Amino acid sequence: MMINAMTRSVYIHVPFCSSICPYCDFARTIKNEKWIEQWLVQIKKEIRTKLKNIDQIDTLYIGGGTPSVLSIEQFDSLMIDLIPYLSKQYEFTIECNPESLSKEKLKAYREHGVNRISLGVQSFDPNLLETLGRHHDPSRIENLIQTMKDQGINNISIDLMFALPNQGLKDVQRDLEQFFRLDIDHLSIYSLILEENSIFGKQNIHPVDEDLEADEYEQIVKIMKSHGYEHYEISSFARNKKYSKHNLVYWNDQEFTGIGCGASGRENGKRYTNTKNIHQYIEYGPQPVYEEIDAPFEMIMMGLRTSFGVDLEEMKRKYRIDLLEKGKEVIGQYKNDLQIVDRHLRCTETGMEKLNSILVDFLEVFE
Ligand code: SF4
Repeated sequence: MMINAMTRSVYIHVPFCSSICPYCDFARTIKNEKWIEQWLVQIKKEIRTKLKNIDQIDTLYIGGGTPSVLSIEQFDSLMIDLIPYLSKQYEFTIECNPESLSKEKLKAYREHGVNRISLGVQSFDPNLLETLGRHHDPSRIENLIQTMKDQGINNISIDLMFALPNQGLKDVQRDLEQFFRLDIDHLSIYSLILEENSIFGKQNIHPVDEDLEADEYEQIVKIMKSHGYEHYEISSFARNKKYSKHNLVYWNDQEFTGIGCGASGRENGKRYTNTKNIHQYIEYGPQPVYEEIDAPFEMIMMGLRTSFGVDLEEMKRKYRIDLLEKGKEVIGQYKNDLQIVDRHLRCTETGMEKLNSILVDFLEVFE
């Protein structure tokens, strides 16, 4: 197996949020100024330690939690050791929520080299936002996007959700119409998953009917494609080839460094996850827990999510596996859902819809 001790992609996790959404199962905690200051001391230590193994950063992704809850001064302080590492062609994304964003913050992001923003919009419908426990005013989104563009940040993505309680096909369509008004190049769209540990999970909220969810997904793909967006990953659409370069690192089976409370990384063939407990992190640092990765299966699982598929030659080179031979039965079983194009095994649109079943079948082959 190829060992790569030096990654060129870095994920930084900011675990603070101004409120906790009832569906959320991420590593997050309510914003607290004292904790943020203590967390900053610890994460800056972790950044300095991890950067010793890195020459340059090609993709930097600050996610959360809600990174935009940090004040400009706190963000400055977080950035100071990272900026000199950015390579010439870097992509630097920050996740933001509309309610914690301002013109001043966007200016500060731009000054520190941020060139991509992922905005958590979730829906433009005030009633659905209320169900989701989100507190922003959807009528502000258009202005906010314009302010990003005015600051010179043109690589913009928003997150939307579907399969929400009381959301029908028409509502999903309306949200997409609002998205098109923004004239931006990227959309990530996720169905609501009722995680056991979330507030919704504990309240026994029921998921929407599976058939309705499948119809909504099909409609989303159709509408997005008809507006010139490429369906390049199961939940992602891009125009003008503005793919998320950072996420492509995950999907292309490459290694990356994770920094911060609750962050995960993948280095030297292993995955690690730092402690999710903010007090433990502040007191003792990252305390990563390592796990072995079933690397060949991971390559299939990630590759089939994208329209680029699994590179069959790369699979042979890295893991000495001839997937056409080893996965012959599964590939035969999904004749209309899997295809081989340019030595890549890819999902067709119907395959994307059946991805879970396809992966379960591949998993059996790799067990
Ligand atoms: S969904 Fe996002 S904003 Fe809401 S609590 Fe979770 S991390 Fe915070």
